[in-house]
Amino acid sequence: MSIIYKPCGMAREYSPYALNIYIGCSHRCKYCYAPHTLQKKSEYYFGKPEPRKNLLKLLEKDLKNNKYTEQVLLSFVGDCYCDSADNGQTVREVLKMLNYYKVPVAVLSKVGKKMLRDLDIFKEFGDRITVGTTLTFLDEKKSKEWEPFASLPSERLETLKTLHDNGIKTFASFEPTIEPVESLKLIKKTLEQDSVDHYKIGKLNNYMGYDKWQDWEQYAKDCIALLRPTNKQVYYKQCLRVLAPNVEFLECECDPDRYIVKVNEENGNIQISLFDK
Ligand code: SF4
Repeated sequence: MSIIYKPCGMAREYSPYALNIYIGCSHRCKYCYAPHTLQKKSEYYFGKPEPRKNLLKLLEKDLKNNKYTEQVLLSFVGDCYCDSADNGQTVREVLKMLNYYKVPVAVLSKVGKKMLRDLDIFKEFGDRITVGTTLTFLDEKKSKEWEPFASLPSERLETLKTLHDNGIKTFASFEPTIEPVESLKLIKKTLEQDSVDHYKIGKLNNYMGYDKWQDWEQYAKDCIALLRPTNKQVYYKQCLRVLAPNVEFLECECDPDRYIVKVNEENGNIQISLFDK
């Protein structure tokens, strides 16, 4: 069985493949679905996770047996740059191995500048990698309330800028959007600093009714008004689109695979087809 797997349901909208390095996370986001999905008690999930047993061995076996030409996301379960028992050594080894086997990769983290310790490896991937962060609140107090041990929004914005300035393709995940007004402020910030290539926009789902009192259709309209004139690459998640029935989304805004990182092999040569417009 492969350790790289195909996500399903809402997770599939994020990536055709994924790899989880740790089964746990130190960020303790209020809305975290992972303990429930994994049927683990919160006290066993939140903390400093160990890397999965034999992960590097299993990954190497998988990569020798299978060819991945579409992006593998690190990670759906946990944040691969959270505080971990191995101090992040395993994620670095995983990246080196994925690069060696020419696998296209997307990295998503809320950790901020700590992930820049692997900037040298991100650069080695060239166009086969995109690195992103989740943006939820510009307001620091709210950010701390909802994502207590993740980095502050200013640090996440700064990290995106550093990555982008270093030639790394970047993405920002606006899922969850908890308060549309905060997410819109963050979108404006990223546009001002021109630090994001691709936007993924969704909403908070099923968290104590918080999502029930927002005008999601207006949010979709406001995002479109900000982003469409910029020609940025944007994907609106289905959970948001169904709540905005009067909004006309473009075909490219509804195709989850449009902007993934992938490689095409033609005549034995690897051809990069990243982020085609
Ligand atoms: S970063 Fe993700 S996995 Fe970690 S606590 Fe937050 S929502 Fe859960």
